[in-house]
Amino acid sequence: MALDRSRFFPLALSRGFFIELSGAQLGEQTDLFDGALKAAKGSLKGLVFFDSNNRHRGRLSKKCSGAWPRKTHKYLGHRGFWQVSPVVHVLGIETSCDETGVALIRAQPGSGSSQTGAGASGATGEILAQALHSQVALHAAYGGVVPELASRDHIQRLAGLVERVMSEAGVDWAALDAIAFTEGPGLAGALLVGASLAQGLAAAVNKPVIGVHHLEGHLLSPLLDPEAGDLRFPFLALLVSGGHTQIMRVDGLGRYALLGETIDDAAGEAFDKSAQLMGLGYPGGPEIARWSTSGRADRFDLPRPLMRRPTLDFSFAGLKTAVLTHVQKLRSSLALDDQARADMAAAVQAAIVDVLTGKCRKAMRDTEIHQLVIAGGVGANQALRQAFAEISRQDQCRVLFAPPHLCTDNGVMIAWAAALRVLGGQPPSRASGFSVRPRWPLAELPLV
Ligand code: ADP
Ligand code: MG
Repeated sequence: MALDRSRFFPLALSRGFFIELSGAQLGEQTDLFDGALKAAKGSLKGLVFFDSNNRHRGRLSKKCSGAWPRKTHKYLGHRGFWQVSPVVHVLGIETSCDETGVALIRAQPGSGSSQTGAGASGATGEILAQALHSQVALHAAYGGVVPELASRDHIQRLAGLVERVMSEAGVDWAALDAIAFTEGPGLAGALLVGASLAQGLAAAVNKPVIGVHHLEGHLLSPLLDPEAGDLRFPFLALLVSGGHTQIMRVDGLGRYALLGETIDDAAGEAFDKSAQLMGLGYPGGPEIARWSTSGRADRFDLPRPLMRRPTLDFSFAGLKTAVLTHVQKLRSSLALDDQARADMAAAVQAAIVDVLTGKCRKAMRDTEIHQLVIAGGVGANQALRQAFAEISRQDQCRVLFAPPHLCTDNGVMIAWAAALRVLGGQPPSRASGFSVRPRWPLAELPLV
C-alpha cells in the first residue's frame, strides 16, 4: 500500500497492492486510512508511506545511490558520476488506452561505437516475461474506447499481470533496476492507474521509476529486433496507430524532429471508422485486413488525400467521407452484400497503404535518409508490410517493422524504451507524485 498526500483521489485497489491517492492529510483524515484498510480486506502485502509533496526527494544526488546498479560509471557533468550497470532489468507498465501491458526486460549495452544500434548504443534486449490484456471485447459494443470503462478495467487487471510477469520471469524485486510506466500521452484516468501502481511499487521496493512517453515506446520497439543491431542514427520513423500518424527524423534517443503528421484522422482511425461505416467488427484495422483478402481493390475509387502535395502531412478525413458516400449508395440500392464489403475493405486498405508508402518514400527522398522504422498498431498490417518490402527492394532502402505482436500497445515497448534511457545514462528518479501527461509532445522529451 502506498499512501500519497497529493491532490488526487483514491484510485486503485487490486490484489495485495493498494494505492491510495488522497488529498487528505493523513493524521487529520484517519477515516480515509481506515477505509483503505477495510477495502483491502486484510490482503495487504506491504504498507508504504511516502510524501509526494517533497519534490526534492529522489532527485539525482550522490546520496541517492540506493537501488541503482553497479559497475559502469557515467560522468554527468556538474551532477557528478552516476553508475550504470552493464545489464539492466526493467519492469514496464502500459495503461495509456485499452491494453493493460506488463513486461520484464533484460537489456545490455552493445560493445560497438556509440553511433550504432538501438538507441545509438547497440543495446540488446531480451523479453523475460510479458503479459497483455486487451480490452477490445469490452469496448466493441461501443465502436470505440470508453475512457471510464478503460480505467476501471486497468485497475482490475494490472496488479495481477504484474504478479504474473514477475513470477514467470523468476526475477526478484530486488534485482530490478527500474520500474517504468507510460506517463503519457493517453487517457488521463487510464494513465493514472499505471502511474500509481508503478509509483507505489517503486516506493515499496525502493526502486527508481521512469515515466515513458508512449510514442517513444512505439518508436523504439523495432529496435528490439536483433536485425536492428547495426541501425545507425539518423533514421526516419513512421508512427502509425489509432491515435497518431507521424513521420519523424530520429537523430538520437529523445532527438525527434517531426517532419509530417496527420491534419485530421490518424490512419488507424481511418481503418476503424471505415470498418464501422461498413458494419464490420472492431477494431477496424484487423477486420479490414481480413475482409480485404477476398476483395478487389479497384471496384471502388477512393481518394489518396494530399498525395500529390509537396507536404509530408497526411489527411484521412476525406477517405472516410468517400467510404460513407459509397456505403450510403450501396445501402440505398440494397447492394451492400459481403462481396461489396470485401471490395470496399480492399479499396480502403489500398488507399491507406498508398498514402503511407508514398509519404515515406517522399520523406526518404527529401531527407536522403534511407533507413525507416515503422511502429504502431497499423504496422501490423500485412499489405503495408508487403508494400514496404517491395519499396525497400526498388529504392534500395532499409525498412524495419516492430514484430506484429509488439505493434499495438504493450508493456515490452515501455520497459525497452526505459531500459535504453537507463543504459544511455538517464538519471533515475524516486517515486515522487503521480504525475501523468495526457498531452505530451514528443519534442519535449529529455535528451539522453
Ligand atoms: P493507439 O496506441 O493509438 O491506441 P495502437 O498502437 O494500439 O494505437 O494500435 C491500434 C490501431 O491499430 C487501431 O486503429 C487498429 O485498427 C490498428 N490496427 C491493428 N492491427 C491492424 C492491422 N492488421 N491492419 C491495420 N490496422 C491495424
Ligand atoms: Mg491501443
